[in-house]
Amino acid sequence: MLTKKTYLTHVRCLECGHSMSYQPELEHCSQCDSPWLDAQYDYAQVSQTWKNGISNNITSLWRYMDLLPPIPAEFIVSMGEGNTPLIRANKLESLFGHSCIYIKDERQMPTNSFKDRQASVAISVLNQQGIQECVLASAGNAAISYSAYTAWADIKLWAFATPLVLSKKVREIAIYGAEVITVSGTYDESKKAASDFAKEQAIHCDKGAKAIAGKESMKTIAFEIAEQLAYTQDKCMLWA
Ligand SMILES: [Zn+2]
Repeated sequence: MLTKKTYLTHVRCLECGHSMSYQPELEHCSQCDSPWLDAQYDYAQVSQTWKNGISNNITSLWRYMDLLPPIPAEFIVSMGEGNTPLIRANKLESLFGHSCIYIKDERQMPTNSFKDRQASVAISVLNQQGIQECVLASAGNAAISYSAYTAWADIKLWAFATPLVLSKKVREIAIYGAEVITVSGTYDESKKAASDFAKEQAIHCDKGAKAIAGKESMKTIAFEIAEQLAYTQDKCMLWA
């Protein structure tokens, strides 16, 4: 059962150092308008809670919800993302003469990419705010993830892509029901077109990996690797 517990204490601006309370809609520093915001947690408290291992039975990335933005359980959009295998790469070790190489296989995700981590947390935050329409510029994988997760949450997605996005990826985005707009130009130009469209239509424009949800979601890869290495029987000499 997902709970509401979190140890997020405040948000700090990485440009000017200003501290703010966390709000799901927070995107810019209230002092200098910078988008570079960093969530801060009560790590001393978390270390006490996690001292004897993580006690919940959640196997998705929401296992680490203590260190994610606070989202009530009823708004969380999850399809079992996370907990991907950590595979010992014996042949690469021989090839590169390295004693210890592992591969975190993020293909084993609901839409086959690590972007499902970002989509799960970001779309949950949109869901929490009651947002029903969203714009995203993407080079491919993020749009596939967002289209799947927005479909699950009944949020309409406008996905802006460049002509370099493979046609099979465009098809996959559309299959989930998203509107795909191909912009002739670079990825930066498609981001600008997405942002202008969102402003004109007064639709939420997702800031992707810059947003607090996007950034926070990706650290769960590191948490999983730490847990997996701690429990693996296949320890290489670095951990032996
Ligand atoms: Zn600031």
